[in-house]
Amino acid sequence: MEKKEFKAESKRLLDLMINSIYTHKEIFLRELISNASDAIDKIYYKALTDKSISFNRDDYYIKVIPNKSEKTLRILDTGIGMTKEELETNLGTIAKSGSLAFKNENEMKDGYDIIGQFGVGFYSAFMVADKVTVISKALGSTEAYKWESDGAEGYTIEPCEKDMVGTEIILKIKSNTEDEKYEDYLEEYRLKNIIKKYSDFIRYPIKMDVTRR
Ligand code: ADP
Ligand code: MG
Repeated sequence: MEKKEFKAESKRLLDLMINSIYTHKEIFLRELISNASDAIDKIYYKALTDKSISFNRDDYYIKVIPNKSEKTLRILDTGIGMTKEELETNLGTIAKSGSLAFKNENEMKDGYDIIGQFGVGFYSAFMVADKVTVISKALGSTEAYKWESDGAEGYTIEPCEKDMVGTEIILKIKSNTEDEKYEDYLEEYRLKNIIKKYSDFIRYPIKMDVTRR
């Protein structure tokens, strides 16, 4: 008898993920904010055990920035960031959770709030975006990298510029269709509403910058 591993068609799996797991598209924001919060929790945890890292609560926040003219929604955090390798493994492998690994590696006990575990939440961004760009600079690194994907044809990674440690996610929001008003995700009131509904428990400040013109 020969034992074989299952193979997966990653493109179809991603499609399934994006279109079948979630009932409400609006939860993409909850997923991205929870990842941002996890990233700040990790830097906070590192600071507890490494005296060379200072954790000044005011420096840690999540920011949501809609831009109607560009049709982009940016979600940025001042968390631990990702190296090139982490972008590759955590965002290039469906159902790979870097947060679950972090919890296990650091033997984190209760009292920490890291939310991630299934390694799929990030991809919910493709429910509302044609293209997702992730710009990240990891703690302790001088280089920053840009990960980019349209969801269907895989992803690219290249070096880029970023001053602060942390991560910035840029969603190119889909155009409205008859069934779905995607562009509402660029409206301040709508975003505030979603944040209130799903992310009220997040321990770090969630700020919003609105470009008016
Ligand atoms: P989960 O949160 O369940 O682990 P996700 O699909 O939401 O799964 O995210 C996959 C992984 O990508 C996370 O575990 C984390 O390692 C990494 N990641 C995602 N967003 C960020 C971020 N803003 N900052 C740092 N790492 C991130
Ligand atoms: Mg997550």
